[in-house]
Amino acid sequence: MSTYNQADIDAMREAIKASATALQDNGTPIGGPFGSVIYKDGKMIASGCNHVLADNDASAHGEVYAIRKASQVLGTWDLSGAVLYTSCEPCPMCLMTAKWANISKIYLPRQEKTLP
Ligand SMILES: [Zn+2]
Repeated sequence: MSTYNQADIDAMREAIKASATALQDNGTPIGGPFGSVIYKDGKMIASGCNHVLADNDASAHGEVYAIRKASQVLGTWDLSGAVLYTSCEPCPMCLMTAKWANISKIYLPRQEKTLP
C-alpha cells in the first residue's frame, strides 16, 4: 500500500473539489459527484469532473475529462510520469483509459469497510 505525503493530500483535496463542481455548476448538476486531477512534475496540469448529464455521454467521467485535458495541455496522448488523483475508485473504463494514456500512478481515497 502506498502512503500519502502532504503533496498527495493536497492533490486529493483538489480532486474532491473537482468532484463538487459536477454538482454545483450554475446550480444544475452536470454529472455525478466524481472528480479527478492530474499532476506532472509536482504541478497540477488538468482537472475534470463528471459531465455525464450535461453531455448526455455515458463516457464523460471525471477521469476521462482530466486525461483529455492533460493531453491537450501537454500536446501528447502519452502521459508517462503523470499521476492521477481521483475522488472515487475508477471504473473499468477510466482505469483502462489511464492505462492507455500511460498514467504512471493513481491515487484514490482510502476505503474502509466494516464488517457486520
Ligand atoms: Zn469512470
